[in-house]
Amino acid sequence: MRLPLTYSAVLGFAALTACQAAPQKSVNSQASLCKTEFIILGTAQDAGAPQIGNSEDPAWRDSSLRKLAASAALVDHKSGARYLFEATPDLREQLFLLDEMAPIKNTEPLGISAIFLTHAHIGHYAGLIYAGHESAGTKDLNVYAMPRMTTYLTQNGPWSQLVNFKNIALLPLSTGTAAILTDDIKVTPFQVPHRDEFSETVGFEISAAGKSALFLPDIDDWNQWESKYGQTIEARLAAVDYAFLDATFYDDNELPGRDMSAIPHPRLKGSMDRFDALPKTERAKVRFIHLNHTNKARFENSDISKDIKQRGYKLAQQGERYCLD
Ligand SMILES: [Zn+2]
Ligand SMILES: [Zn+2]
Repeated sequence: MRLPLTYSAVLGFAALTACQAAPQKSVNSQASLCKTEFIILGTAQDAGAPQIGNSEDPAWRDSSLRKLAASAALVDHKSGARYLFEATPDLREQLFLLDEMAPIKNTEPLGISAIFLTHAHIGHYAGLIYAGHESAGTKDLNVYAMPRMTTYLTQNGPWSQLVNFKNIALLPLSTGTAAILTDDIKVTPFQVPHRDEFSETVGFEISAAGKSALFLPDIDDWNQWESKYGQTIEARLAAVDYAFLDATFYDDNELPGRDMSAIPHPRLKGSMDRFDALPKTERAKVRFIHLNHTNKARFENSDISKDIKQRGYKLAQQGERYCLD
């Protein structure tokens, strides 16, 4: 089945926030039309928006402006398996949102068959803390991680306790090698250049029977990806139907008083300039995610948001569902 549009827009999901997670029943019946879904559970940079210490941010008083940390779920409606991409500090709300959108139909811990982690920065793995005894106390919750990430979790508290108490069960990932989830569904990590203090960093290519998606919330630089790891964003984009890409900052004027050259990440503006050379069909695959709280693109009515849309790109929205059949 081919659903060219994310049907979230049709069903009015685009504006869902943590405080408004009240999906209609029709959504679940709609979901049953689709065998494999990719669901967006958050679009913000690690620390979410609004961020701590920014009491003037309008999102503190208008919950519709709040954004959870970048995360997504893959749902195999045939088997009932649900997979998470990232365990963010917003995991509690994100799992509730997922439970509402794609209710638990399996016996795995928290109804999650596995969590895939990109790297050891707070927005991407700190939610693992909820697997521990003080919270869900899960038994063998599967967590896929790269080698350095695995060592980091195994050798440093509090994560090591989750491993020792078997709250989580670590499963290995290797760059460029697919984790085969079913005959139709596979997840392939691709290592990317990033601030790798504790772990390496990967993006994931998720492919189902019909379609595929690239989930790449954090990368330092598109050119470095090629020089260090032999990958071009254009080639990876060509290989998928949807690409959820790092758009942490819009440009270099975003953090007054801070030297932004010391803070890598492709700037959203620069990425668009680069992708403008691509055919319209390629540009249409791009969904920007991982927006810092300072990035004006997080506000739907900002001039920047309008410019992004006019140029043929999209901003991913929490609660969006993509059919990968
Ligand atoms: Zn991040
Ligand atoms: Zn990071």
